[in-house]
Amino acid sequence: MMTADAPAPKISDLARPAAPYLAGLNPEQREAVETLDGPLLVLAGAGTGKTRVLTTRLAHILATGKARPWEILAVTFTNKAAREMKDRVGKIIGEAVEGVPWLGTFHSIGAQILRRRAELVGLTSNFTILDTDDQLRLFKQVIQAEGLDDKRWTPRHLASLVDGWKNRGLTPSKVPADDAWSFAEGKGIKLYTTYQSRLATLNAADFGDLLLLNLKLLQEHPDVLAEFHRKFRYVLVDEYQDTNTAQYLWLRLLARGTGNLCCVGDDDQSIYGWRGAEVDNILRFDKDFPGAKVVRLERNYRSGEHILAAASGLIAANKGRLGKTLWTETPGGEKVQVRGVWDAEAEARLVSEEIESWASKGRRHDDIAVLVRAAWQMRAFEDRFIRLGLPYKVVGGPRFFERQEIRDAHAYLRLVRSADDDLAFERIVNVPKRGIGDTTVQRLQQAARSAGVSLAKAAAAMVQTDELRGPGRTSLRQFLADVERWRDQAATMRHDQLAEVVLDESGYTDMWAADKSPQAAGRLDNLKELVRSMGEFDTLEAYLEHVALVADIDRVETGDEVWLMTLHAAKGLEFPLVFLPGWEESVFPSQRSLDENGAAGLEEERRLAYVGLTRAEERAVVLFAANRQIYGRWQSVIPSRFVDELPAEHVEAASDTGYYGAEEAGYGAVAEPFNPFNSGYDSPGWKRMKAAQGRALSAPPLIDGDAKLIAKDDDSSGVAVGQRVFHIKFGYGRVAVVEGNKLTVDFEKAGRKKVIDSFVDPA
Ligand code: ATP
Ligand code: MG
Repeated sequence: MMTADAPAPKISDLARPAAPYLAGLNPEQREAVETLDGPLLVLAGAGTGKTRVLTTRLAHILATGKARPWEILAVTFTNKAAREMKDRVGKIIGEAVEGVPWLGTFHSIGAQILRRRAELVGLTSNFTILDTDDQLRLFKQVIQAEGLDDKRWTPRHLASLVDGWKNRGLTPSKVPADDAWSFAEGKGIKLYTTYQSRLATLNAADFGDLLLLNLKLLQEHPDVLAEFHRKFRYVLVDEYQDTNTAQYLWLRLLARGTGNLCCVGDDDQSIYGWRGAEVDNILRFDKDFPGAKVVRLERNYRSGEHILAAASGLIAANKGRLGKTLWTETPGGEKVQVRGVWDAEAEARLVSEEIESWASKGRRHDDIAVLVRAAWQMRAFEDRFIRLGLPYKVVGGPRFFERQEIRDAHAYLRLVRSADDDLAFERIVNVPKRGIGDTTVQRLQQAARSAGVSLAKAAAAMVQTDELRGPGRTSLRQFLADVERWRDQAATMRHDQLAEVVLDESGYTDMWAADKSPQAAGRLDNLKELVRSMGEFDTLEAYLEHVALVADIDRVETGDEVWLMTLHAAKGLEFPLVFLPGWEESVFPSQRSLDENGAAGLEEERRLAYVGLTRAEERAVVLFAANRQIYGRWQSVIPSRFVDELPAEHVEAASDTGYYGAEEAGYGAVAEPFNPFNSGYDSPGWKRMKAAQGRALSAPPLIDGDAKLIAKDDDSSGVAVGQRVFHIKFGYGRVAVVEGNKLTVDFEKAGRKKVIDSFVDPA
């Protein structure tokens, strides 16, 4: 980087003989960088340098004087990726990168363009961009104005429909009539139209509009299109496989000017089908842009040999793909590590131990990523990391305890514990909606202040009087009675059970169950995980205390933190050490994807697994647990089919007994190695586990939310104190204590151990 007072760089200087940025490229990459004119597609597997090609190409265009910084349009998907792209270009061209104004995400560039010509689509240049909450409020008004019941036809449902239409580039007049029938007996299009005109009145656009209105602008105003054609000499797009129809149409329009469109992507990494991405866009590139040059890159620079081969072997199981070969000059390296663990706790423990050992060798925490399929999986890791003081950050979302649904649930529990918790009261008195509006809450606050009592007390007094009228009064009375009842139940009920009761009876669970937004299912999973994790504490107080402390911990902002994120958020990134936990059937592949999209859903899940593995440079660790606890009940789960699909020769497998504690058992951490690979779960170790569990693992599993589980009928052990039992690992012993499904057994050889009942047989 240059300092501010250094003379301005002469971009052309950078292009003098054998520009250093070209020297490091392989011949195919160089070809892609240097083919500046006409449509170009770089279609290549993970880690082959697609993003590097794109950024170098941008620098090269500037360096050769083919275009000036403001004549290049460069788009990608996430803000993080855009920042990264800018950094990489900056490394080559220095400060001149600041003069590239059109480098950003689809949304940010869409907004920039729209502001310039807002009046042509019925807005003014200072229009507001609505957030999701505002958007939902507006949908609600629109639904009510139509005289519809917004409980039956929810704002979220309509929002997701409209979003889908916008992703497909459909303005109200273009939505096919059949499409709209799913909402309020055919009122969908009408509501969409009203919504758009309300937005116009408010001088506002939602996220989908940033693209849709752009498209409209360019389609309906040839002069504007021509202006942008003159403007953008070069168009560059990363992660092209994940563009939706609206983005595709928009790019196609813009690129028609000079025809200098360069897209890079990988059909094997298309993971946003659920949000309207069309992998076909990349597959038919050469048809859309006749004469397009297609460059393929086959050398992977990121991962060790085994990791790459394992990922390639896995993705080969997909049918709908072009197929490509990848090779690396980083021979050897580690095989993909696969660990079978006892449960989520053991999983988090194993991961944290590896992290500590990595750090003890002087390596950095931010070289490490833990990539999960679903956000609820993060909780066990966060808990463990917090306990050990391991620095970590959650990408693309709040940390578990900071999530809206978790905070809401905590507020309920706090109110049950203490009637004086005004903050909790305020937070949930009208969540879910009970007709207790802002005015009522304000009056309660006044009353509470003047009487010097809590909101709950003020409310209790007020419902006895005539100060509140109508349905608000009835539902406030009901709410207070509910809280009172839960408080009574708290005396006798287990606190995790109580949490379940409160969430169900308050209508909170139903609120998310009725919610049609894409996040709703994840929130329900998080709530289940919350109830589960409460079971680890003896009392509600102990749990809430833990939460309060966790929330309070000062975060050490060293920047050297382990990355905890979803697989989706990890696209395009790379890390020396990657953990991939939860590779169990129905967690990953997610049961929901399979239910909703069948074979296509499975292939998208497999691509996601491929994305995960190919993030790793040196070491990849795949984990699966034998048991997951759902609603406080142990359920057995089977390893993901993806585990079996990893070619055995590139994998090193071991099981970790976890629950017993290896040290304590004196059996070593990998006392019971087994290799379930390519064996249809038939390896000797697996068979033993099967036999010990006394049920066929191939039996059709029961479905419970996102976890397809082979469940036990009840959680009573059927084993009595004093009974003689046999355990696969510890041999014969006598039961000393029974606590639910956990047994303490005095083994004849191994001594006293705690085990799970389903792993012992009566002897
Ligand atoms: P993904 O599909 O995951 O987005 P990608 O194809 O975009 O991957 P890059 O991120 O551009 O790949 O590159 C992967 C890694 O390989 C980066 O660390 C990059 O710097 C490095 N790399 C790429 N090309 C070369 C090269 N010619 N010489 C050395 N390193 C390279
Ligand atoms: Mg990339």
